[in-house]
Amino acid sequence: MTQQEQPCQNIEPLISGALDNELTQQQRQQLHLHLASCEACANLYRELAEQRGAVKLGVQTNDVLNESQSTRIWNAIGWSLLVLGLIPLVIYAIYQFSQDTSIPWWIKLTIGTTVLGLILLFINVLRQRMQAAKSDPYKKVNL
Ligand SMILES: [Zn+2]
Repeated sequence: MTQQEQPCQNIEPLISGALDNELTQQQRQQLHLHLASCEACANLYRELAEQRGAVKLGVQTNDVLNESQSTRIWNAIGWSLLVLGLIPLVIYAIYQFSQDTSIPWWIKLTIGTTVLGLILLFINVLRQRMQAAKSDPYKKVNL
């Protein structure tokens, strides 16, 4: 089976679809293939992308950026307080627990393992949140 060359008039709707983020994976691939070999459509795509980019940025940037920044700050404060409160509590609980000689060692072991698992999961979520906060909310249009 050979890859058929798409005529340019079939590509134009794909270009505006891509800019509106409405394409399927297959359509994106089709468009990408065509743009790689067709200078005219690649130029058209760039032109339209610039137009849309200018419109979008002009209308949305201020509102969306401000909102997401304050959301991020409140998120950071919330997480910090949570961690600050949680750490002494967990240390105290672990200390009390390990001092209690009435609890069999194997129960200590299983509960210890469970707590360790929860802490690791918590750290992972925290790490993801910090990464999400660092990354730019505005991604460039991907083909
Ligand atoms: Zn073309």
